[in-house]
Amino acid sequence: MNGTLRLYNTLEDFKDVDKAQIMANVKTQVTANAQITTDSAQSLLGFVMIAFADLKKHKYYYHILYPALFDPHAVATCIRETIPGNVDLKQIRRTAMENRRPWFRMTTEEYSMLVFVDPGPLLEGVLGWPARNMIWTECRDKTKVLCLAQTLNDTKMFSIQQKCASDSPQVTGWEKNETGAVAPTIVDLAPLMDPRRLAQEAADLNIRLIKWRLLPDLDIDRFKTAKVLLFGAGTLGCNVTRLLLGWGVQNITLVDNGRVSFSNPPRQSLFRFEDCVNGGRPKAETAALRALEIDPNAKVVGISTHIPMPGHVITDKATTRKDVEKIMKLVDEHDILFLLTDSRESRWLPAVLGSAANKTVITIALGFDSYVAMRHGSGGTKERLGCYFCHDINAPGDSMKNRTLDQQCTVTRPGISYLAAATGVELLAAILQHPLGNAAPATMTPNATDALSADTSLLGVIPHQVRGYLSHFQNMQLIGEAFQYCTACSSSIQQAIHTDGCDFLMKALEDPSTAALISGASSLQIDPIEADPIDNENDINNESDNGNEFCLL
Ligand SMILES: [Zn+2]
Repeated sequence: MNGTLRLYNTLEDFKDVDKAQIMANVKTQVTANAQITTDSAQSLLGFVMIAFADLKKHKYYYHILYPALFDPHAVATCIRETIPGNVDLKQIRRTAMENRRPWFRMTTEEYSMLVFVDPGPLLEGVLGWPARNMIWTECRDKTKVLCLAQTLNDTKMFSIQQKCASDSPQVTGWEKNETGAVAPTIVDLAPLMDPRRLAQEAADLNIRLIKWRLLPDLDIDRFKTAKVLLFGAGTLGCNVTRLLLGWGVQNITLVDNGRVSFSNPPRQSLFRFEDCVNGGRPKAETAALRALEIDPNAKVVGISTHIPMPGHVITDKATTRKDVEKIMKLVDEHDILFLLTDSRESRWLPAVLGSAANKTVITIALGFDSYVAMRHGSGGTKERLGCYFCHDINAPGDSMKNRTLDQQCTVTRPGISYLAAATGVELLAAILQHPLGNAAPATMTPNATDALSADTSLLGVIPHQVRGYLSHFQNMQLIGEAFQYCTACSSSIQQAIHTDGCDFLMKALEDPSTAALISGASSLQIDPIEADPIDNENDINNESDNGNEFCLL
């Protein structure tokens, strides 16, 4: 059966539908078809369905018109008759199944009759709804009609005649709902659905609406299939997790070795007071648990593991080696790394591994009222972008050594982590929507009047670094190329990883000068000003000169 489905965008549009106009249009069409021949029987069957789907509440509204022609002044007679013995019902049923028409004329030497394929149960001689159009077009004279039911036992024959007063019929057929009113049917599926499924549908809808309304080419699967590894489950780790869930990222692993303390819940958005008592719950696992309370369908895992840091005293080599191997495995299992820890040296190991495995790496770091969110360069590109360590010729060491407790704690304006986390996650979103991914060239914000260049993703430019300054409510973009002697991403360091793997990493962790020696950075430390390997404008760690260090508790 052919029909028309009209799906409306809003409930108001659905309610305002001019049903009289629809009926008038249908009448014109069906009446025209009825004038043709019996072969047009199929065209006399049809429907118009109007619908509105409230996908957020899972409520569906619909109303169906099955147009039926009738003459209010017609006189109809319908008399039950006995089916003649020479009528081969099985043969007629085969014919009906072959020609797939709602009704057709069957003529043999012995008889001539109309066969009506009744779609509904034959109740007390009431024929199915499509019979109305058949009778109006075919039964002006007395006509024998065989009503072919679903079973041959129920098949009956009638003699039908309808004397019409005019050739201009009226049309009826808007379906009644379950209350018996000629009104839309409302189906509320929400109570029938698993709440987890409801949550998933609703969360997916947030993303799908972006695609439907604004960005038809948005590749939602890039978010769904991304495997993201977060180093740090503190202020930034919590906010980045929430934002990733917002983009529909389903695979998130958090690594942190800390426990939730009483100072955390006001700043670290996944934790609560109860997480702090009795010494505090493990941060990584607790953050994952809380994230699952937000999105129970996501796969969020927390892993309490120490991130070995160069320059920090190694008391148990075997344990440190296990930690390194564990982190190597985690990096291997994920596509995207976020470096969100609270010191420069804790970012070194994941930065090195991310670079060696050519993962997408995003670093976010905070100052008191400033932040930096940057992506590390990708291998295989002509002019590789720098990493977090590219602009510092000093190998990372123990930055907490000889510091008092208050000096170890970086103080930040509360809003800065939200701004920084949002910038980092939106940077990832732009990367994921570019065909080249993280290999996409860095782009700067064009003037408002400029068209976006081919280097941009469908979400806009993909900067290398964004620095935000809350004191001026401004942010700026920077591009810095990779430093050939970088202690984290230089080719000599990558080569050492590929050749010696964990052995090299253990050496570099025990003695930070190893990385500097291998990368070549140590030779530059003799006279860093003369060597001038960096653009001071781009030096992330210049911030520390002003006592405005990018790190986070
Ligand atoms: Zn680097």
